[in-house]
Amino acid sequence: MRYVSTRGTAPVLGFDEAMLTGLARDGGLYVPESLPRLTADDIAALAGHSYEDIAFRVMRPFVGGAFTDAELQGAILRAYTGFDHAARAPLSQIGANHFLLELYHGPTLAFKDFAMQVIGQLFQIALARGGRRITIVGATSGDTGSAAIEAFRGLENVDVVILYPHGRVSDVQRRQMTTPSEANVHALAIDGTFDDAQARLKDMFNDFTFRDEVGLAGVNSINWARVLAQVVYYFTAAVSLGAPHRPVSFTVPTGNFGDIYAGSIAKAMGLPIDRLVIATNQNDILDRCLTTGRYQMGAVAPSISPSMDIQVSSNFERALFDAYGRDGRAVAALMDELRATGGFTVSQGALQALRERFASGRVSEDETLETIARVWDTTGRAICPHTAVGVQVAEAHLGRVPMVTLATAHPAKFPDAVERATGVSPELPPHMATLFARDERVTRVPNDLAALQAMVRERRRAC
Ligand SMILES: *Cc1c(COP(=O)(O)O)cnc(C)c1O
Repeated sequence: MRYVSTRGTAPVLGFDEAMLTGLARDGGLYVPESLPRLTADDIAALAGHSYEDIAFRVMRPFVGGAFTDAELQGAILRAYTGFDHAARAPLSQIGANHFLLELYHGPTLAFKDFAMQVIGQLFQIALARGGRRITIVGATSGDTGSAAIEAFRGLENVDVVILYPHGRVSDVQRRQMTTPSEANVHALAIDGTFDDAQARLKDMFNDFTFRDEVGLAGVNSINWARVLAQVVYYFTAAVSLGAPHRPVSFTVPTGNFGDIYAGSIAKAMGLPIDRLVIATNQNDILDRCLTTGRYQMGAVAPSISPSMDIQVSSNFERALFDAYGRDGRAVAALMDELRATGGFTVSQGALQALRERFASGRVSEDETLETIARVWDTTGRAICPHTAVGVQVAEAHLGRVPMVTLATAHPAKFPDAVERATGVSPELPPHMATLFARDERVTRVPNDLAALQAMVRERRRAC
């Protein structure tokens, strides 16, 4: 399988190189040249298999010759051993025809673990082979950073540098990033928003001299391998609910568009998904774009679902690439306009294509709290605020087809919001019980490219 850039001019790469690179050299994102399709029989045959088996079958066609079957199988098996639920991604029911897909049973309690643990394993295999040393730099609104640190801490040939917006992540999120003691882990708190962190990260990738000097690698959700690993749980959930014989809909709390984009890949591969619903908080650029056709950046308004507090939704570029008939030049022009003016207007044809693939909804802060309280009152379950955004939007789309809302984080990762809504503070699972007793290690950094590059150079040399 070969991978092409959404902006059309970067080199075509194999799976392993696309994974190690992250962002394409023309500023675009890698996508597969074509999608493998599973027949109804293939999908029916997934029933009754383990999460790991299904992951292998779904991921294998995308990997091509980059990893042997045994390597891929081994990586998947090791990736999920740290999960505390045998099903890995269990479903639970919260209403008539409404289900939660619990994606928070991994080591850092958010869905990011599903992909990050797999790519941590695959990076190790690829690096051991090439004798290479790399520096992973990631920008995070909270959950990607902790998942990346968990997946790469202590590895020989890897430094992992995580940029998070100072003061804009929850205490649990911050501590998961600042308490690991391994020398290859570097947490940096940037004076700015997540969008600033992500913009500086992209600047680092676009500085080719720097990029090659430090062996820069990216594990943000722009990394195709992450999207791929997330395609798997759409299959396991849909098959549990009767696919391929019955269609299923999904609602996805959305920020950077990686998770829901994985759902659209599952659908394009043949999984009978009826509706894919984007759920946003008050930072609603995606909902506005689908409603009006105008993708217009504003200022980030910090919310109680901070992992979705973003304005530029990176993976949306992949959906645009599809909606524009895979015309890399058209996408590059839109992204240039975004950079220069802070917005762009989607063409009528592309907007129609997007609306055929995605529905959307937006939830206010008050509605988020009300939803946490309502789910608590009716089911006795605590849900995290991101999940609540999903549940509220999903309820507007309930019908005959089973609806699955992705529960993207454990409620104990966002205890303040949950306590405000329910009066009860959710408890951390046992493996995290000592989180608040551990020492923190973090460096405050300005929102300045040169200063950040100097910091990355110094940190990776130091170990
Ligand atoms: C990252 C994250 C999201 C948003 O996912 P995207 O793939 O960026 O759209 C939603 N909820 C939680 C808890 C997250 O960590």
